[in-house]
Amino acid sequence: MNKSHFVILSLTMVLCLSIAIGANAQEKQFKTENIIFVMTDGLRWQEVFQGAEESLLPEAKSGIHPIRAAYWRDTPEERREALMPFTWQVMAKEGQIFGNQDKGSISQVTNGYNFSYPGFSEVACGFGYKDVDSNNKIYNPHLNVFEFLHNMPEYNGKVGCFGAWQLFPWILNSKRSGMLVNAGYEPLDTGKSYPEYELLNRMKRETTHYWGGEPFDSITFETSFAYFKREQPRVFFLALGETDEWPHGGRYDLYLHAARQADNAVRLLWETAQSMDQYRDKTTLIYSTDHGRGYAPEEWKSHGEEIANSENTWMAFLGPDTEALGERENVDRVTASQIAATLAAFLGEDFRAAVPEAGMPIDDVLGKKNN
Ligand SMILES: [Zn+2]
Repeated sequence: MNKSHFVILSLTMVLCLSIAIGANAQEKQFKTENIIFVMTDGLRWQEVFQGAEESLLPEAKSGIHPIRAAYWRDTPEERREALMPFTWQVMAKEGQIFGNQDKGSISQVTNGYNFSYPGFSEVACGFGYKDVDSNNKIYNPHLNVFEFLHNMPEYNGKVGCFGAWQLFPWILNSKRSGMLVNAGYEPLDTGKSYPEYELLNRMKRETTHYWGGEPFDSITFETSFAYFKREQPRVFFLALGETDEWPHGGRYDLYLHAARQADNAVRLLWETAQSMDQYRDKTTLIYSTDHGRGYAPEEWKSHGEEIANSENTWMAFLGPDTEALGERENVDRVTASQIAATLAAFLGEDFRAAVPEAGMPIDDVLGKKNN
């Protein structure tokens, strides 16, 4: 190597180093330091964007049925706000929501199965793996974004995952990762004892188990909420289940109530977070679902490969790094497989470096363009 080559090489190295530092500095530009991610199982995009569907509302023998009084309004905008007030008054105003197919926004799962384990796995792992094809208690072989973060020193022990459905320890493979995944009727065991943990654990035993593997959402939500306030995790995941169970049971009235309750759970988490130093103005909220369901009048009860519309979903984002573009119209399709890399990107982490097949982060929700 002669002297001029050495100078060129040195300059190149300095240039590469400064590009690397520049890229690193850019990653740190996001204000998000914590994630609150809530999912509610199988809530259709139709209810999210249009509110209650008139043909499915129960009829009263006389007068107005209380479900109609609660959720029926003249316009889709009024109906959806009655059903999901926090989503529409806050998330869709100060953040962004995707999936209104009537306005050119499509949100979908890509796994092809359109039921719960493959859907939650696609969201968590960033890919609709073909070998994730049942709702059986099989440990998921694929890396998920919660485990990816839990494996980093700055997030280790600061990831808390809660699911109404008992399958989550398998979906998120907590046996492999050792991270906290509390689901179904399992008592919450963090090694610490608090009165509210003990009360909730007693309720899990004492409440009638209406569905074998899934308590009512209130029990799961309150368990997760107690943990959230006590432990202040940096990454918090909650998956509710009643919006899937009641449709399977043919109860459109209780499906609507469950959607309303899920919206309230999201509000409580968000408002509580904004009152805490750990979270205020540095937390991003994500709200989505694991699959859609069929059309009225019959197929809305079910979902799956053979049920049209089951692949269609919705997703919403709110936080200090997401521009307030509201209800998105005429935008590129977004998919469940993009959520994992998007969640990591808010925190300045690159999930696709660990899982190259994972969907790309959704740029539209990352970074306020005018900042
Ligand atoms: Zn289902």
